[in-house]
Amino acid sequence: MQHLTGLVVFTDLDGTLLDHDDYSWEAARPALVRLHENDIPVLAISSKTLAELRAINNRHHLFAGLIGENGGAIEIGSDLRQPGPATQTIDDARAAIARAVSIPVASFRTSNADAIATATGLAKTDAALAGDRNCSDPLIWQPSSDDIAIAEKIARDFGLKLVKGGRFYTLCGETDKGRAMQTAISMLQEQQKLPAKRSEITSIALGDSPNDAGMLAHADIAVQIPVKHGPVPQLDLGGKTARLAPAPGPQGWNQSLHAILDELSQTPTAITKAR
Ligand SMILES: [Mg+2]
Repeated sequence: MQHLTGLVVFTDLDGTLLDHDDYSWEAARPALVRLHENDIPVLAISSKTLAELRAINNRHHLFAGLIGENGGAIEIGSDLRQPGPATQTIDDARAAIARAVSIPVASFRTSNADAIATATGLAKTDAALAGDRNCSDPLIWQPSSDDIAIAEKIARDFGLKLVKGGRFYTLCGETDKGRAMQTAISMLQEQQKLPAKRSEITSIALGDSPNDAGMLAHADIAVQIPVKHGPVPQLDLGGKTARLAPAPGPQGWNQSLHAILDELSQTPTAITKAR
């Protein structure tokens, strides 16, 4: 029997491992079991906070490591690192913005769970987890275009940026999922959960949106999960190509991982060794 070694899996959650509509990962269970049986670490990498990711993992025990806030904060076992900006820098920049603009500026970090629940529509417990942030902070404000320009300038002065997401302007740093992946691999090497030689490691990454492009571009094997509703986005992977999963969400996740593990266990390369 061949034992797969040196493999590590990084996965986005929403629309990738979790179904777009019901957030279920059930369809990916067979591949997750197979990864677990082969001691292959699976890491979640998401725009969610570490607190939100911990809540998911405490319930389902899926991940060997958590990467939150789009790569800004990494937790593997008791090792917690923050490649993203210092929390104090975020707070100082937000305070400077609040002083400079003519409207009230609140944020997830400054608001209680009730206020975040009102702003987002989340349940109060989930709102509290979303508000527990390390290195990015969605603003709760009603800005004019002048306010936005002022805030963007101040963010830059602090080495940060102001990013417009679906509903919020978020104050954050230059972190990306690709760089966080490299840091997480080093952390796993230090914990002897991956080989010391990078050449003996094969990283697999799965994602569905432009937000995942940095991660997919860094992976040795990249899988794009097609979106469930609407057109599949063209991701800029800097010349690399990703495999397109045969189905959206956890179904595609499951099938792609099985196919990759089948291929790798049949190919006697540096990453596989006879048991
Ligand atoms: Mg996604």
